[in-house]
Parts: sequence; C-alpha cells; structure tokens
Amino acid sequence: MRITFLGTGTSQGVPVIACQCAVCQSTDTRDKRLRASIMIQLDDDTNIVVDTGPDFRYQMLREDVCHLDAVLITHAHKDHTAGMDDVRAFNYKQQQSIPVYGTVLTHESLKREFYYAFGEQKYPGMPRLELRPIVAGETFRVSTQSFIPIEVMHYKMPVMGFRIGNFAYITDAKTVSEESRSLLKGVDTLVVNALQEEPHISHFTKEEAITFAEEIEAKTTYLTHISHRFGKHADIERTLPEGIRVAYDRLVIDVQ
Ligand SMILES: [Zn+2]
Ligand SMILES: [Zn+2]
Ligand SMILES: [Zn+2]
Repeated sequence: MRITFLGTGTSQGVPVIACQCAVCQSTDTRDKRLRASIMIQLDDDTNIVVDTGPDFRYQMLREDVCHLDAVLITHAHKDHTAGMDDVRAFNYKQQQSIPVYGTVLTHESLKREFYYAFGEQKYPGMPRLELRPIVAGETFRVSTQSFIPIEVMHYKMPVMGFRIGNFAYITDAKTVSEESRSLLKGVDTLVVNALQEEPHISHFTKEEAITFAEEIEAKTTYLTHISHRFGKHADIERTLPEGIRVAYDRLVIDVQ
C-alpha cells in the first residue's frame, strides 16, 4: 500500500495569503503546504483519497491521478471538503458515481454544502456522489482492504481517523478517548496532526502529538496539518525525537 501526502498544511495552507513571515517566504519546497489530504493506493491499483479540500483539483493534477475509486471524509470543515465538486471529472471519465465514506453528521453537512448534487433534479455535469455512512469502530471495506474508523475530538466536533492495517491517519484531533487509543495501539506508521508549538483549542500541539504517538507506540510518526507558525520544515525536523518526522507535500511512503 502506498501513501502519498497530497497536502500537509493547516486550513489556510502554507504560505498564507499576504503573509511576509520567514516560513511563508521560504524557498524550501517542503514549506509549501496545500490543505491536508492523503491518497492511499492499494496494491490492486485502487485509489482512495482522504479529504477533498480546496486544493483537491490541483492535488489530482500534480500527482497525475487518472482514476479515483473512493473518497473518505474525516469531518466537514471546509479545508477538508471544499474541493469535492471536482470529483465530477472522475465521474465523467469513469462513467460512475464515487463512493464518499463519512459519518451521518458529515454527510448531512455535505448535503447542505453541495445541495445541487443531492437534489431531485439531476443536472448534467454535476458531481455524482454516493454517500456511504460509517460508524466509529465498525470496520468497512474498500476493494479488499479493511478500514477501521476511529473517532477523535476536534474540540467539540467528532472527527474520523482511519486505521488501515498497520497504518493510521489522524487529522484535526485535540483529544482522543481511551477506546480510540486502544484501536490505534501498536501501529507501525502513524500520521497525526500537529499544528504548532503553542496551545490551540482544537488541534494537537507538537508536544501533544509526540506524547500521543509515544502512548500508542507508533514506530514511525509523520506530523501533518502544519501551520506557518510552527516554523520551517528543516527547523522543526531538528527538534523532533527519533521516529517522529514532519510530513511534506508529495512525500510518498510504502506501508504494509
Ligand atoms: Zn483541518
Ligand atoms: Zn506566514
Ligand atoms: Zn477541522
């Protein structure tokens, strides 16, 4: 299974529009972060994208993705859903609807945001999305691969993370219940959000993310959903303990 980081930035991305800070002005390509998303490529060539944020169109073009088999949505914040309309390019090419896995709460929000795609009247050219509800702790399958949805809390909002074999993707977490931690225990590779060093009401800080990774005993952890306030990629990397890395856009990792 291959994981491609399509975006590793927080809601505004990095650089932030009109920001003159050293991170936003950095020439290191690893400091250019689109909105957070990954693509999971199964060994049978099934392509699954987790979240379709505002940069979804460009992310698909940049990685030259030629087919899409499923979308998983972690939660309904715009930096994770705003690009969903562009799924229609795949609808057109594949001549089929795309399954969109998410909680009922997330689906209700998608139905409001993209009301025209769910109305009685089917206009030509609009996205065809097949909503498939998921429930925390209840395994579902895409192709032959099992996915365990794992609930984490984003201040008061429930967000779905996913465990896929020995890989897990957790974004927009601030607190994680014991039950959810037990489902993550012992993953080889963890991707987890870490916004910045300073405390934040709805996101893990660097220290919180590191502590979390240690508690679930992940072998290798990649931090994502990074703010420009966190610092330059190279500077953050220097401060991290062994086994903890910072993800960057277009990083590709192969996992079991
Ligand atoms: Zn977010
Ligand atoms: Zn900045
Ligand atoms: Zn969010």
